[in-house]
Amino acid sequence: MPRSVKDAIKRSRSTVETVVEHGRATVETALEHGRATVEEALHHGRATVESALFHGRATVETALYHGRATMQAAVLHGREDIRIESVPVPKAEAGELIVRVGAALTCGTDLKVFRRGYHARMIVPPALFGHELAGTVVEAGAGVTDFAPGNRVVALNSAPCGRCYFCERNQENLCDDLLFNNGAYAEFIRIPARIVAKNTLIVPDHVPLEHAALTEPLACAVHGFEDSHPHPGDTVAVIGGGPLGLMMVHVAALAGCEVIAVVKHDGQVIAARALGATHVVQATTIRKAIRDTRALTPNDRGVDIAIEAVGLPDAWEEAVEMVRKGGTVNFFGGCAVGTRVNLDTNRIHYSDITLRATFHHTPAICREALNLIAGGRFQASAFITGHAHLYELNRVFEKLMSRNSEIKTAIVP
Ligand SMILES: [Zn+2]
Ligand SMILES: [Zn+2]
Repeated sequence: MPRSVKDAIKRSRSTVETVVEHGRATVETALEHGRATVEEALHHGRATVESALFHGRATVETALYHGRATMQAAVLHGREDIRIESVPVPKAEAGELIVRVGAALTCGTDLKVFRRGYHARMIVPPALFGHELAGTVVEAGAGVTDFAPGNRVVALNSAPCGRCYFCERNQENLCDDLLFNNGAYAEFIRIPARIVAKNTLIVPDHVPLEHAALTEPLACAVHGFEDSHPHPGDTVAVIGGGPLGLMMVHVAALAGCEVIAVVKHDGQVIAARALGATHVVQATTIRKAIRDTRALTPNDRGVDIAIEAVGLPDAWEEAVEMVRKGGTVNFFGGCAVGTRVNLDTNRIHYSDITLRATFHHTPAICREALNLIAGGRFQASAFITGHAHLYELNRVFEKLMSRNSEIKTAIVP
């Protein structure tokens, strides 16, 4: 082949290769830009759809609320007698909110009330029932400026007066005029003005309502734990594997304590381990539980802090026998009215034991509890072991009385 032809072929090949290469680069650039544009469009689209859904839902809930004269609600009539009834939908008076309940959680206190038929301080039947809830505001009464329809909120079960001797000493949990609210097992609930002003909190967008509803029991646990004056690294024994015992185990573990969970049932052993207990003592007798717990401490000296979360006199006495010299006991579980305990006065005095009995929560601690839930380290979903409709409430309580692997059931109206 003549040289000029060869050259021509070579030149044209390199031209073709250059063209192909530029073409490929251009296509890749176009693809890349295109992809970025599509992703951006998808992202904006998704955000718009989510926001539309959210606002739509809030609007529908508000519309539903305004269009209804009656709602379904659980009414407690007495011992083991809950009836789901049609009752008037509440309307917001000045300072009040009406909340569409997103989730209401079962609670040991409700179970006690279900068994006994009343609670001297909190509820006298016939009455609306349930107190751990979170939901969406559908009506704000005159003068409410902090909340508006569409807001996701958790409204606590009580609020202190802010004026009495105890409130002025930052002991709002002991307020002489603590106002309690019930009626969470219903489609809508009225939040009294004082709770709106002092103990209603906005739920951050990323926190599911059923997790936010844990604020009240968690506030009790955080209060009891902090009241025991713990130090990181302390050994803390928690007696009781019910919802609050397990919450106490988790709170103490998150605070860096070594936790010994003292529980009865197999399900509670598994739950306590999952929530951070270093050791679990599952003993059939109190004597053995005391021995086994002490054996986990150096020279059997006892734990730094013992928290009783059962609410039985035997368990109160057990807690005193587990703690070391100079340690702290917290009688966190409330016993039945009229109950008395036998304590070894010598042991308490000569071992210099601090006895505390923390009750309830304060507005500051409720905020702390919601922050803990929103923070991400707290395993909120571990505490909600079931979901049920309002109509299944009786069955749910019967199951809670007999079965031990359930912690809390979310009631969705
Ligand atoms: Zn509760
Ligand atoms: Zn007060």
